[in-house]
Amino acid sequence: MTKVRVRFAPSPTGPLHIGGVRTALYNYLFAKKHNGNLILRIEDTDQSRYVDGAEEYIVNSLQWCGIKFDEGPINGGDFGPYKQSQRKDIYKKYAEFLVDNDKAYYAFDTKEELEEMRVRMKKAGVASPQYNSITRESMHNSISLSEDEVQKRIQENQKYVIRLKIPRNEEVKINDLVRGWVVVNTNNIDDKVIFKSDGMPTYHLANVVDDYLMKITHVIRGEEWLPSAPLHVLLYKYLGWESKQPKFAHLPLILKPDGNGKLSKRDGDRLGFPVFPLNWTNPETKEISLGYKEGGYFPEAFINMLAFLGWNPGTPQELFSLNELCKTFSLERVGRSGAKFDFDKTKWYNQQYLRSKTKTELAEILQVLLKENNINADINYVASVCEQLKERATFVKDMWDEGKYFFQQPRLYDEKTIRKKWKDNTHVILNELRLEISKIEKFTSEEIENVFKQFLERNKIKMGVLLPAFRLSLTGLGMGPSLFNIAELIGKKETLSRIDIAIKKIKK
Ligand code: GLU
Repeated sequence: MTKVRVRFAPSPTGPLHIGGVRTALYNYLFAKKHNGNLILRIEDTDQSRYVDGAEEYIVNSLQWCGIKFDEGPINGGDFGPYKQSQRKDIYKKYAEFLVDNDKAYYAFDTKEELEEMRVRMKKAGVASPQYNSITRESMHNSISLSEDEVQKRIQENQKYVIRLKIPRNEEVKINDLVRGWVVVNTNNIDDKVIFKSDGMPTYHLANVVDDYLMKITHVIRGEEWLPSAPLHVLLYKYLGWESKQPKFAHLPLILKPDGNGKLSKRDGDRLGFPVFPLNWTNPETKEISLGYKEGGYFPEAFINMLAFLGWNPGTPQELFSLNELCKTFSLERVGRSGAKFDFDKTKWYNQQYLRSKTKTELAEILQVLLKENNINADINYVASVCEQLKERATFVKDMWDEGKYFFQQPRLYDEKTIRKKWKDNTHVILNELRLEISKIEKFTSEEIENVFKQFLERNKIKMGVLLPAFRLSLTGLGMGPSLFNIAELIGKKETLSRIDIAIKKIKK
């Protein structure tokens, strides 16, 4: 059996959208599932759309996601180079081969002439005029012009492109692994430019030639490329590579959470969520777009969420590690209809992965945040704090936002709790409680709780009356994890001192 070889072939025209990451992910999963190879190929033939830093961004994003390539511009391979701009010399001969075999032709038309044709056709009632089997006859190309004229123009260095000669009224059939049979009539395809006047191939030619030369067995890509697929099939046929044509799988679009249409950066800005894996700084405007990584997402959560945008395992299981996905993924279970992006679900995934991390793993991440806030804490202490806070957090950052009191005295006291729970005599009672607490020798959560409960009993005070005031003194908040655990963690000295401060500071 031929070895499965798939590729992810981004164009470095900007930051990689999450749809692109999903395409890369599905290719990776498919390759792993079939013990195949995944190739990264940079499609940078369109120099005018090249954006500085985009290629590096793509590589870094995929690395963050844990998507590894067997071949590519960085790790090399037997089928390189893996950047189309470094393969320039390869393509021309294939374009010439097509011309020699009457499957393509030279076209000399200027911009103005092309525009003229469009206007003329529109006047004649053609809604979307095309350069095709009908119009080509009236244009300047090697079909309409005499051979001498063509030679003359070439010798005079006139600019020309090479166009594919799409036949009239033929059916092109593609058995797409996701969509089933797709049949397109060639009357709906125009004579696409395959080779440009700047000496570079267009996407179509370069893509097909490279897939062939790199021995790609399956083309897995976004649905926006489905309209190009018939053209690619024709190219395989005309280049004599029909038997080597890869199988196609066009993945459903990722849709806006509200309404219809493809998820765009604008939707993210409008609804407040990232659509890029990493932060991206626009090299021209310097505008920064937030990424999932910097937004505090775990790559595992991000990947798990993405895997489910268009695929499902057919079982209720929702949490899959990358390894499990590699085993479970199949193109048969990729749906045809668009997948609505769900930001709440994305956060839910993050929460699930946060809960599954050990306190030490979480502490290491939280420690970075603490350092940024000039807090020096022992890693074991941070780990114990994480243990207390992880059930309530979606992001590691939440543990800092909601658990600052573990690292510093409260600066403010929650107004609502003061209003409801701080009575005229609260400071007197708290002072008495303080005395009892000061006598505790083994300052553990259990001991503190025992002393607290005995104190309540002796003084006939209800838990709901004193606990909130006690909590307010230690944390400044009305809610949080077990207060006795908090007291144990911050320690006896700090507990007593915080009660003192609260008594002084909190006024009704
Ligand atoms: N360069 C194309 C892109 O930017 C690749 C499409 C394909 O996979 O054929 O998405």
